[in-house]
Amino acid sequence: MEVQAECPWCGMVTLRPTEVRCEADPRSDEALCEINCPVCHRLVYAKTTADGIKIIRAAGASGISGLVPFELLERRSGPPLLWDEILDMLAGLDTTPFPQMELIDRLGVALNVNRGPNRGASSDASSTIT
Ligand SMILES: [Zn+2]
Repeated sequence: MEVQAECPWCGMVTLRPTEVRCEADPRSDEALCEINCPVCHRLVYAKTTADGIKIIRAAGASGISGLVPFELLERRSGPPLLWDEILDMLAGLDTTPFPQMELIDRLGVALNVNRGPNRGASSDASSTIT
């Protein structure tokens, strides 16, 4: 059995089932397959059906280890992002000393965790964003 997948850079590629890793999305009847493209060696994710991965798994595919990026299966809605919106967000991040803490604020999660003696550590984390 061969598995056909489409690499965004190389086009259609053929793999053995043992070279494919798949997980079914528990929220839908869709599934995500992870491959290393045999041509360019990039990590590629491809959408398939829950029935499709039953067949690929039966032929020797394994599961995806770690966090599975099921958000790749989500339908996009709304208008596309505009460059001005992205630039506005970047400008907002530049003028916000600790944007990750503001995000936590909005979700209502307690902020005292990072405001203790380890404040220097969170300062280091924000400097990598800029
Ligand atoms: Zn490729």
